[in-house]
Amino acid sequence: MIISKQKPFEEILESLKNDDTVYIVGCGECATMTQSGGEQEVADMKARLEEAGKKVVATDVAHSACHELDMKRILRQNKEAASEAGAFLVLSCGAGVQSVREGTGKHVLPGANSLFVGNVKRQMVFDEKCSLCGECIIDEYGAICPVTRCAKGILNGPCGGTNNGKCEVDSEKDCAWVLIYNQMKTEEKLDKFMTIHGPKHWNAVARPGHMDGRADEAEKGAS
Ligand code: SF4
Ligand code: SF4
Repeated sequence: MIISKQKPFEEILESLKNDDTVYIVGCGECATMTQSGGEQEVADMKARLEEAGKKVVATDVAHSACHELDMKRILRQNKEAASEAGAFLVLSCGAGVQSVREGTGKHVLPGANSLFVGNVKRQMVFDEKCSLCGECIIDEYGAICPVTRCAKGILNGPCGGTNNGKCEVDSEKDCAWVLIYNQMKTEEKLDKFMTIHGPKHWNAVARPGHMDGRADEAEKGAS
């Protein structure tokens, strides 16, 4: 899921300094799990903005704020409030913010910072394990991603700074290369550990990413 963290309230208020009327949008998926823009956070934000003298014309928690068609439907269904709003405050990741952007020409502002794609360890504890490089190579590394989990992204590690299994960049974090070594030892594949890996194909995904799954389906049907 996309891990996001709500921005400081003062920063949000500053962004809204020229807007008296606000429509708040949250997200029922990732922003709910990260408590940056679920039902509770949207209600809290409404109360705080009203206390600060703003008029909140509507609030909505979309099922998935990044779903553009659904977002357009929500804004259409609430067109009176949408037309009264001077600004749309979106408590979700940046994808959700830009989904709202597609549905209105008005001032749209992010109420949260998007941090990373995270695995859920337990409630409100998340770890980044994949950084969406576009070409997954972790079969060569015991299914532990050195691109993301090694602080230096080293493909032929370790770097030499490993200390008691921890990373020299952040001693709170495990050295990815110790994890990789231990896993390959468990799998009795230490011979592979010594393989020198060539350069990675860093432009496997041209940004901005785009995928049209329908084209793939059509190709499958034709073959
Ligand atoms: S190599 Fe790492 S960053 Fe790339 S897709 Fe695989 S897990 Fe994600
Ligand atoms: S100590 Fe380990 S995880 Fe940290 S930068 Fe070096 S190889 Fe990467």
